[in-house]
Amino acid sequence: MVGLSGIRELGAEFVRREVAPHLQEWEDAGSIPRELHLAAGQQGLLGIAFPEEVGGGGGSLTDSVDLAEAMFEAGASSGLMAGLFTAGIALPHIVASGNADLVDRFVRPTLAGETIGSLAITEPGGGSDVAGLRTTAVREGDHYVVNGAKTFITSGVRADFVTTAVRTGGPGHGGVSLLVVEAGTPGFTVDRSLRKMGWHCSDTAELSYVDARVPTANLVGEEGAGFYQIAEQFVVERIALAVHAYGIAARSLELAAAYCRDRQTFGKPLLANQVVRHKLVEMRRQVEVARTFTRHVAERHVDGRQEDKPSVIAEACLAKQTACDAATYVCDQAVQLHGGTGYMHGTEVERHYRDARILPIGGGATEVLTDLAARLLGYAS
Ligand SMILES: Cc1cc2nc3c(=O)[nH]c(=O)nc-3n(C[C@H](O)[C@H](O)[C@H](O)COP(=O)(O)OP(=O)(O)OC[C@H]3O[C@@H](n4cnc5c(N)ncnc54)[C@H](O)[C@@H]3O)c2cc1C
Repeated sequence: MVGLSGIRELGAEFVRREVAPHLQEWEDAGSIPRELHLAAGQQGLLGIAFPEEVGGGGGSLTDSVDLAEAMFEAGASSGLMAGLFTAGIALPHIVASGNADLVDRFVRPTLAGETIGSLAITEPGGGSDVAGLRTTAVREGDHYVVNGAKTFITSGVRADFVTTAVRTGGPGHGGVSLLVVEAGTPGFTVDRSLRKMGWHCSDTAELSYVDARVPTANLVGEEGAGFYQIAEQFVVERIALAVHAYGIAARSLELAAAYCRDRQTFGKPLLANQVVRHKLVEMRRQVEVARTFTRHVAERHVDGRQEDKPSVIAEACLAKQTACDAATYVCDQAVQLHGGTGYMHGTEVERHYRDARILPIGGGATEVLTDLAARLLGYAS
């Protein structure tokens, strides 16, 4: 396990060397190459917060926060991070299940960057109401027969396997299970590669399951435990998305400040205008509030005190909202300060502006997370 400054330097150097020279090309192509996963895996980036026993680096959530912050500072895009680190949402349930066979088949090769995994919960009928999902998995001997559809699945076009939320039981959250469905399973297909407003280099799939026969050995944990497994891991995903939000906001602020130093209007640099300087300070304030709050929640999560669990889950929702609000304001103002240049394809702040829009929707829409926080904090009737 590399030390703290090592993690940040490793992440920044990886972006400068392996990502920055190609990012626009990948954005335009709509996906990132598999070789990038291999390079990231070989340098221990993909598994940094996973236990050493499953092929990870043995670090914690705060290490992955440090890594992501440094990668954003060096110019990574939110889409790049979503596509490269999909392992962060596809694998944790498998690791937590403690199933050695699934760990060997899916976790180790993915953390090494040799395979790619996705997590499929959202369906065309809805994503917010996880307990209402309709994709069914009916047991027949030593297989499940899966029927249904998933949509908006990150890395789903390239995925070698998809950790899929299915209904094995009756209605409601008690009937949900997690099943690993491998690419190449007859009846399991990528229906469409979806085009999006932002996150262009992160491929997004619509998946279809028609009588797809999946071995019961691919069940993750207990049958019927899926909803709780998903809820347990959502906390980390929400903290990660909060880091995306303040990460791209911080980067957009840096770019805007540099632009305002150079750009002349009315015979003086933009920065010579008090209104511009104050805008940059306000952007900085919002970034730092989001960063401090998110890091605080991440540390509380790592502390892992059982009695803190409900408030940590609630705070993760609020930190995500705080960071998304910061990104919404800061990325917008960074475009504004760039003038027409900020509206041009290929200008970095333009990309962050578009990428920011998914963050208050993905991993739980703000309204849904606010309501969850209300219940956890005791404000529900
Ligand atoms: C680029 C991208 C990548 C994604 N990656 C993945 C992935 O890898 N895996 C995956 O499973 N999913 C993924 N998603 C799906 C994402 O998590 C869902 O879009 C999200 O959970 C919202 O679900 P929905 O789109 O079905 O919106 P709906 O559930 O239909 O909700 C629509 C809107 O209604 C509002 N709303 C919903 N419920 C309430 C309520 N109770 N009270 C008040 N307002 C409410 C919110 O504003 C919400 O945005 C991704 C989505 C995108 C766009």
